[in-house]
Amino acid sequence: MTANHYGFDTIAIHAGQDPDPRTGAVVPPIYQTSTFAQDAVGSPRLGYEYSRSSNPTRDAFQENIAALEGGRRGLAFASGLAAEDTFLRTVCRPGDHVLIPGDAYGGTFRLFAKVAENWGLDWTAVQLDDLDAVRAAFRPGHTKLIWAETPTNPLLSIADIAALAGIAHEYDALLMVDNTFASPYLQQPIALGADAVVHSTTKYLGGHSDVIGGALVTATDDLGDELAFYQNAMGAVPGPFDVWLTLRGIKTLGVRMERHCDNAERIATFLRDHKSVAEVYYPGLDSHPGHEIAAKQMRRFGGMVSFRAAGGEQQAVEVCNRAKLWVLAESLGGVESLIEHPGRMTHLSAAGSALEVPADLVRLSVGIENVDDLLADLEQALG
Ligand SMILES: *Cc1c(COP(=O)(O)O)cnc(C)c1O
Repeated sequence: MTANHYGFDTIAIHAGQDPDPRTGAVVPPIYQTSTFAQDAVGSPRLGYEYSRSSNPTRDAFQENIAALEGGRRGLAFASGLAAEDTFLRTVCRPGDHVLIPGDAYGGTFRLFAKVAENWGLDWTAVQLDDLDAVRAAFRPGHTKLIWAETPTNPLLSIADIAALAGIAHEYDALLMVDNTFASPYLQQPIALGADAVVHSTTKYLGGHSDVIGGALVTATDDLGDELAFYQNAMGAVPGPFDVWLTLRGIKTLGVRMERHCDNAERIATFLRDHKSVAEVYYPGLDSHPGHEIAAKQMRRFGGMVSFRAAGGEQQAVEVCNRAKLWVLAESLGGVESLIEHPGRMTHLSAAGSALEVPADLVRLSVGIENVDDLLADLEQALG
């Protein structure tokens, strides 16, 4: 399917997924095979020879995610972090410097601080919503990459993608955007000037909390070809069943995101007006410092809401423990609502660093249940 003139939901359901030419199967088969018979030495049928290098189910997903992000090339990985690692070691070399968000996702921070740094990569954490600070942190000739996340995990800060692309390109650097929180339904960084997008497809794209996966999408064929070489050379690829599950999740991404946004808007307003809540982080609230930029670059404001408990760390932990319908768990982006304490759970790896998160913070992944049930359970959990 050539996707360009179709709307988002049509692309989500059809891109990369024409009915199977041999059988007419409407859904792409799970090609659960490691290798492919060759017709003669050096003549793989349809180009398939070994599933680390390529696999038809994975190809369907890769074509789909590239179309959803409006990019040239999509590449699938075993996890979001595998995608990040492959990207870093493709575009950077030891001695290069990268700017990362001052409140990056904990796993991304750990990848830079504990893995990439040992490999010789230098990095600086900077508040990406402060463009003067971004410019000041740039080391011309050494800074290869701005690594952006917007909205960020877990503080929901907003970076201006078009402005960051402008700065990166002025210095011949690349802009990478982690689009996990927004999903391509709400935000398309490549159209705003980003060179590449990374996803933890574990989250909204998969959408059902049943599969771990990652993806990269590039703005150009050249960067896509380079990454495809490293995808095969490094081998952090997903199995066919995992990408099949992700593809199935993506079919409903648009309708799910609308409901995530509806519910999150209601919950953010409820928390803003609640006496046990000191502060709410949701880019859809007028009071959010990134609200205007978010309104400019996002379709709506997403399903993630964080808040600080007025009663401090103890109360934040108690709210998480008392919630019944909200499942106490890491991860996000599934149909079911999750609650967690970032300081002791998802962002524990940033403890003691400049990226430490407030101890009284609670993070909500607002699901698509009936919002009144979610509100009632939060009310009782807040006490
Ligand atoms: C979860 C997450 C990742 C890492 O993805 P995995 O699939 O868990 O490896 C990266 N970035 C963000 C914003 C995330 O939420």
